[in-house]
Order: sequence, then structure tokens, then C-alpha cells
Amino acid sequence: MTGASRGIGRAIVERLADDGRLVVLVSRSAESLEEVRAAITDAGGAAETRPCDVSDSEALSGLIEEVASTHGRLDILVNNAGVTRDGLILRMSDADFDDVITTNLRSAFVACRAAARPMMRGRFGRMVNIGSVTGIVGNSGQANYAAAKAGLSGMTKTLAKELGSKGITANVIAPGFVQTAMIEQLPQQMKDEVSKQLPVRRLAEPEEIAHAVAYVTSDGAGYYTGQVMVVDGGLTC
Ligand code: NDP
Repeated sequence: MTGASRGIGRAIVERLADDGRLVVLVSRSAESLEEVRAAITDAGGAAETRPCDVSDSEALSGLIEEVASTHGRLDILVNNAGVTRDGLILRMSDADFDDVITTNLRSAFVACRAAARPMMRGRFGRMVNIGSVTGIVGNSGQANYAAAKAGLSGMTKTLAKELGSKGITANVIAPGFVQTAMIEQLPQQMKDEVSKQLPVRRLAEPEEIAHAVAYVTSDGAGYYTGQVMVVDGGLTC
């Protein structure tokens, strides 16, 4: 599980641990991961930490292979690590475009590729990529982020087709606005405006995204694959 140190990722690992899964926490900050691990074990769950920068493809692949070999299996992969580098197209640098594509999209490709073999061996797997409604409808100032999130959808549908016969599903969860550090910098007035326009009249809590992930990764969700599950409070309906 990448991006497990806070926000949506933390909610996902806490939920999966509550559901009885042994979770492996990945992000850059060893200290934050240790705090999440301690919270999970205090609550009676099982968790291990593997600090890693997901933009380092070799390290990420190696980590996944090591986890699968240490535990003899790999059932679930959730690619959630993400960053934004916003700017209007005329001002967006190549570096800002590349950084977002590397962290948000290439890392998911690398992780899925590394996870495919152990999942095929176990004839079971649940791959989940955390997208965004921005990848579906776009968003001013986020050409890089929208491209990365839309890319995740195309890639995930392809993986569903390539791996479905091996018992492996692949899906995207596409949240709308979720209360995390990622949207902290947005002006409160803007968040209030967005909330007012949503059918549910509020932003999402990270746990509501984790609930969707719990479904698509469950043993019973073997027929749910190749989908983009939008969890946006009705934003795009
Ligand atoms: P946060 O900024 O709160 O968390 C981002 C997570 O990604 C952190 O755990 C961070 O850990 C990790 N991360 C970032 N870069 C790297 C890297 N190079 N290597 C490893 N880990 C990394 O964001 P959210 O929880 O809000 O977002 C989680 C996902 O949900 C993202 O993919 C985001 O695009 C998506 N999303 C969020 C929405 C929102 O409204 N919040 C809406 C739609 C989608 P660390 O810093 O320790 O490395």
C-alpha cells in the first residue's frame, strides 16, 4: 500500500487491517509510517513498514518482490501515493509535468508489473489504483495531474484484460474532494462553495474512500474488474 503515511492512504491501511489483513505500509517518511504502524498494532491489527520513494522504480520493484517472497504471497496492491504540482498550462514546466507523472502514474505501473507475478502464482490478486475525478473531467491548473489520473484508468483497464483469467482484478477508485493535507492549501471559501454544490453538501472523509477500497479488494469482488469507481458525493453526476 503506497502513500500509507497520512490522508486517504492511512484510512485505507487502517480499514484493511481492521478487516484482518496484514498491511505493508509504504511512503517516504519512516517516522510517519512508524506512527501509523503503531496505531494499527495498538488497535489489534498487523502492519509492517517499508519506507520507499515510489519514484525510484528499482527500489519499488525490489520492495514488492521482497514482500511477496517474505510472506509467500501478495493478495492486494493499492497504489495511492500521489502529489500535485499545479499550474496553468502556459506556466507548467516539464519538471512539474514529469514529477507528477512519475509519482502518480509510473509508480503504479512499476508496482503493478512487480505484483503481477506473485499474484499470478497465487491465482488471486486485487490491484487498486487511486485515481481522481480530475482524470475524468479535467481541472484547470492540473494538466499534469489529470493526465496521470486518466492514464491510470487506461492502464488499469488494460491490466484487467491481461490478468483477469489469472484471478486478478484491477480497478480505479476515483475520489472527488477528500479532507486531507492534499487539499489543505485550497481556500476555505472555495471548499465551502464546492460543498454547497455537491448533492451530499460536504467533502468526503478519507474513511469513505477506504470503504470503497475495502469492497474492491474483498474476496467476494472477483467479478468487479476494469472499472473506475467514482466516489465523489455526486460531483460528476
Ligand atoms: P496526502 O498528500 O495527504 O498523502 C499523499 C501520500 O502519498 C502520503 O502518504 C505521502 O507520503 C505519499 N507520497 C507522496 N509522494 C510519494 C513518493 N514519491 N513516494 C512514496 N510516497 C509518496 O494526499 P491524499 O491522501 O489526499 O491523496 C492520496 C491519493 O488520493 C493521491 O493519489 C491523490 O491524488 C488521490 N486523491 C486525493 C483527493 C483529495 O481530495 N484529497 C481527491 C482525488 C484523489 P510521504 O510524504 O511520507 O512520502
